[in-house]
Amino acid sequence: MTKKIWIIPSIIGFFGIATAFTLHRPPEKNLLASPPVLRTLIIDPGHGGKDPGAHGLHSHEADIALDIAMKFGKAVKEAFPDIKIVYTRTTDELPGGGSDIKQALRYRAELANRSKGDLFISFHCNATDQPAGGWYAKRVIGHKKQQVWQGKGKRRKKVTILAPIYESYWVENTRKGTETYVWAADRSGSKGDKISENEEGGEQVEDSRNLRRDYGRSDFDIRHRFTFSGGWDLPFDRTWSSGPKRLTQGWTLAPIFSYRTGFPLDVNGGLSRARSRPGPSGAGDSNLVHANLTGPLTLLDPRVGQTFNSRAGNYYFNPALFTQNGLGGSTCTPCATNPAIRTYGSLPRNAFRGPSRTNLDLAIIKMTPLWGDKARMEFRAEFFNVLNAAQFRDPSTSITGGTFGQINTTYDPRIIQFGLKFEY
Ligand SMILES: [Zn+2]
Repeated sequence: MTKKIWIIPSIIGFFGIATAFTLHRPPEKNLLASPPVLRTLIIDPGHGGKDPGAHGLHSHEADIALDIAMKFGKAVKEAFPDIKIVYTRTTDELPGGGSDIKQALRYRAELANRSKGDLFISFHCNATDQPAGGWYAKRVIGHKKQQVWQGKGKRRKKVTILAPIYESYWVENTRKGTETYVWAADRSGSKGDKISENEEGGEQVEDSRNLRRDYGRSDFDIRHRFTFSGGWDLPFDRTWSSGPKRLTQGWTLAPIFSYRTGFPLDVNGGLSRARSRPGPSGAGDSNLVHANLTGPLTLLDPRVGQTFNSRAGNYYFNPALFTQNGLGGSTCTPCATNPAIRTYGSLPRNAFRGPSRTNLDLAIIKMTPLWGDKARMEFRAEFFNVLNAAQFRDPSTSITGGTFGQINTTYDPRIIQFGLKFEY
């Protein structure tokens, strides 16, 4: 028996965009008063009013969505009292109070924009005619002789009948609903601008009297991330209704699409650190010195082979733009005493980004019941990086290394795996 779980590999895609930009210091601002990432949350109970949504046996989607959304909002308010919550509706009516469903959709968007919402959560639910999880049913597993009284008065007599023997059994409901999307879309544009001292377990700052010197993106700042995942029960049994059910039923398609911007990159000056070396502060901090940047930095397409510093390779940036010159030499011995080279380098911290990643994974699942409900077989075909796109890892940022500026590794190419699971 093979046990399969969802595997969401981190695979990097590269859009092949060579963006050109010039580095500059971020404007100075009050670094200690960094605003919260999520200030305004829009909670949208789906449907409402004349639009009841999906019909259940004894309820409508609009009512359930409203109930859950209000409870969710209350829980958020308790846990994060500073977050402002804006509801698109709090009663059983269409958002905006009208009777036009399309107008209510536009109202939702307008309200979210007007309120400057940072996150929009919409609540929907679907109906299925079968109880979730499963239910108990009764079946006849044999007969037994049983004596019962029949008739009335003088005619009353004892007879022997064959009575059925019942067995109660559990019918498992494996359905996730027909043609139902269970999806999540998420786009985060949260900034990770921070002073390094305040995060990531006490990273060192260059100059404790000038925290702004270290102002920049945090090491794990991913500016944008978008993920879409879903499960779709393929309706083959409807498109080919006369076909054998064992073949046409039980198919599910599950894609996972993701995109994110690259991680911040940093180029250290590569100065050696030793007890005897003072560094710019005199306290032995030569390891914190950044490289000097000698010109505008242009990001390159790593698919194109190029030669810099008489080394051929797949470059992400021109390594000749970074230099140790002016940093006081590799030992930085005169750094503390010579004011001209008492520097932490001209490259700002985490000033540019590595390659972004785009990836699509796909799973095709076929469930086949065997011997009634007694057993079932699950077949899975899983495709990672379906499009087989080259997904670049970060380039080498070691200024003294032989591959400085080059990208020499990628994430996995397309991987296909099959799994067969037998449950009984
Ligand atoms: Zn809905």
